[in-house]
Amino acid sequence: MGSQEVSTVDWQGKHVTVAGLGVSGIPAARALHERGALVTAVNDGDDERARAQAAELEALGITVRLGDGATLPPSTELVVTAPGWQPDKPLFLAAAEAGVPVWGDVELAWRLRGDNGRKAAPWLAVTGTNGKTTTVRMLASILEAAGLRTAAVGNIGVSLLDAVLGETEYDVLAVELSSYQLHWAPSLRAHSAAVLNLAPDHLDWHGSMEAYAADKGRVYEGNTVACVYNVADPATEDLVREADVEEGCRAIGFTLGAPGPSQLGVVDGILVDRAFVANRQKQAQELAEVSDVNPPAPHNIANALAAAALARAFGVEPAAVRDGLRAFRPDAHRIEHVADIGEVAYVDDSKATNTHATEASLAAYDSIVWIAGGLAKGATFDELVTGAAKRLRGVVLMGADRALIHEALTRHAPEVPVVDLDRTDTGAMSEAVARAAELARPGDTVLLAPACASMDMFTNYNKRGEAFADAVRARADESA
Ligand code: ADP
Repeated sequence: MGSQEVSTVDWQGKHVTVAGLGVSGIPAARALHERGALVTAVNDGDDERARAQAAELEALGITVRLGDGATLPPSTELVVTAPGWQPDKPLFLAAAEAGVPVWGDVELAWRLRGDNGRKAAPWLAVTGTNGKTTTVRMLASILEAAGLRTAAVGNIGVSLLDAVLGETEYDVLAVELSSYQLHWAPSLRAHSAAVLNLAPDHLDWHGSMEAYAADKGRVYEGNTVACVYNVADPATEDLVREADVEEGCRAIGFTLGAPGPSQLGVVDGILVDRAFVANRQKQAQELAEVSDVNPPAPHNIANALAAAALARAFGVEPAAVRDGLRAFRPDAHRIEHVADIGEVAYVDDSKATNTHATEASLAAYDSIVWIAGGLAKGATFDELVTGAAKRLRGVVLMGADRALIHEALTRHAPEVPVVDLDRTDTGAMSEAVARAAELARPGDTVLLAPACASMDMFTNYNKRGEAFADAVRARADESA
């Protein structure tokens, strides 16, 4: 069977256990029940929210078991799990022992696509440690500019199941996939896929860097046209080499330098394609200008090149790449320019929740007052601080694990002034911005790129970014 064909499962009377209520579990249970499967939904938690969800499913005739997500119901023939459930849970060990397959939300969506009689759209998939959401949204923007019916889906806004089973018919989907989702998606076969970068993250879940990389690498399995990798991150190219792809599928690199044959890259401020052209030994095709990328920070140009590579693999014309990149607006809290006060720029990259993201963010500016700190999630900061030391005008630290960053600064950048804020109340961010403003000189950038999670002080990274932007705007109003 060709990899892009739709496989059909006879769901009638099949005993399926849906593990985990919530964002992916509820629609999965419903979809399977509608197809005649005998669904049992199991959930670890037994709180008010879970009970409300259980009542909703029970009203449809679905069996729900709250407070016990560990035991495999005896007659189970298939487990469909929420992607976040850790692979070493007893439920999965029991399933493995009984020879019962386990699918995640992505696998289910992949298997159900097209079974409602609509066209099964091919998937262009994106994974990586950082930049997934941005790249997938850039890709969707390019595909739209090419006149294709598409959506950015997956680990982002719209769920994959809703996209494949909904009313709208698509020509192609731009799919963001997390390493968790890929772990549970054994038969997924994308048209083309990109791994943007690979840095240690979520290792507690995967068990090791090797296991994490292997799950990311699954995205290339069975690709038909292109496996897109990052020339600057050889681990991504290794994954392409190890993947079992369809005959004729090509490895396509992206680079911030001049591209070799079968690569996309940058020459004199122009994004160029030396992969999807008639004579790639001699020719390169102009796609867009660096200034068409929003914002034109180096890591974001890399994201744009990856998106362009996937679009070109799908046959999109160069002009649509340019138009799509121009039309793209980044999501909030991702290198978002908030205001200029005096001659100092204030930039919100609250989404930089790990050191790899923050490294990219710090590399985008020449002279920085850096606001950082929060929950370190086991990270170390030596490499980050060493790489950025020359560009730091000063640092303002806040949050639970700020001492770790402070110690790294003392070791590797002792001359950089550091303000250590030990308050965690609602006024803390205003003070951080005020102290940063004192350190900044004309031409500097005050950059919130915390390298840490936010939950010690804020509900999430959005709230942290909003607190920063509010504080900056208040200062801008005062100085106006
Ligand atoms: P993801 O969906 O993978 O979390 P996002 O597009 O939401 O990625 O970006 C998250 C953060 O990662 C951004 O705020 C930025 O700091 C950083 N980032 C974005 N693209 C890259 C990249 N290509 N390399 C490194 N860091 C990046």
